Amino acid sequence: MKKISITLLSIIVLAIIIFFTFAGGIADKKMNKVVPLEGFAVSDKAKSIHENLKVADLHCDLTLWDRNILEEHDHGQVDIPRLVKGNFALQVFNAVIQTPRGMNYQSNTDETDNVTLLAMTNRWPIKSWSSLCERAIHQSNIVKEAAEVSPNLSLVQNQSELQAVLDGRDQGEEVIAAIMSIEGLHALEVKLENLDRLYEAGYRQLGLVHFFDNDIGGSSAGVAKGGLTEFGKEIIRRMEEKKIIIDLAHSSPALIQDVLSIATRPVVVSHTGVKGAHESPRNLLDKEIKQIAALDGLIGIGFWAEAVGGVHPSNVVKSIRYVVDLVGIQYVALGSDFDGAVTTSFDASQMVFLTEALLQEGFSEEDITKIMGGNQIAFFLKNLPE
Ligand SMILES: [Zn+2]
Repeated sequence: MKKISITLLSIIVLAIIIFFTFAGGIADKKMNKVVPLEGFAVSDKAKSIHENLKVADLHCDLTLWDRNILEEHDHGQVDIPRLVKGNFALQVFNAVIQTPRGMNYQSNTDETDNVTLLAMTNRWPIKSWSSLCERAIHQSNIVKEAAEVSPNLSLVQNQSELQAVLDGRDQGEEVIAAIMSIEGLHALEVKLENLDRLYEAGYRQLGLVHFFDNDIGGSSAGVAKGGLTEFGKEIIRRMEEKKIIIDLAHSSPALIQDVLSIATRPVVVSHTGVKGAHESPRNLLDKEIKQIAALDGLIGIGFWAEAVGGVHPSNVVKSIRYVVDLVGIQYVALGSDFDGAVTTSFDASQMVFLTEALLQEGFSEEDITKIMGGNQIAFFLKNLPE
């Protein structure tokens, strides 16, 4: 009997070790795929243009996964070595803090959560298992600690820090400006003072909602899909005072209207598609694109099929072209959603594919420079705290 219980105990311990070692990695490999592009050639012209670009992207979810972000991986879509290879000058690193089980674009509640399990399998601090705010703080620590030891990464919290990264790049340094963001202000746990904690932790761009309605407002994939709450109004005011950039990705149409009716600073939609190029419940209407452009905001076009209708670079370019034709080139940006549980046809190291597709669409080198990063860099140089 004793022998059996020891054997049983050993099996349980082994199962727990295996679970904590491999479960997160299995989810990562399954959810962040790159499908190879067949018969897509990159011209010498695209290569030479790409070499001179400062690529900038408004959204990736790298810190959610159990990977050393400073090492190159053969799975997923982004890590620092691949950002260097892709000629990135700026990447917004987004903290995902709660995602509902059976996540979909139609209707989700906050009753379930996949991230709790990842927090455990990724061996995040125990306080982050039950606190959404702590999950965000931990994910900013991942980037901070990497930036402390890597010459390729610099956490940027204001305009002069960004300028310093750009100056370094002009001197030949392969350094990337990291800007921190969160997807969903349920991270505040309904406490205004947590906004100060997140600011202290380095967060400078905050998405109001994710896949469900929260205490700020409605999600495009929520149930009520409502507008801004009273608490939400207070948060918007405080974000503007602190010069934190408002991200309307995943917001319901009602929330977008409520925020735009009181916003005085430019906003971003960090990763999205547009309905005029591809119909999807979370894509932007022409009216919304025009309102965001009127505020001098940015629209980050995603790289995944549900946003742009397919994973081919030409699908991404079709949505970019739509925004350019509707409101002008200065309002369009990239919002890859790399490692955001999406499938793409290129990873961060292969951004030259997008340069090639932009060239094929007839964009000039000057246009491509703006779309691939110039617009994003100009935006942050102007809108980060001084
Ligand atoms: Zn998202």
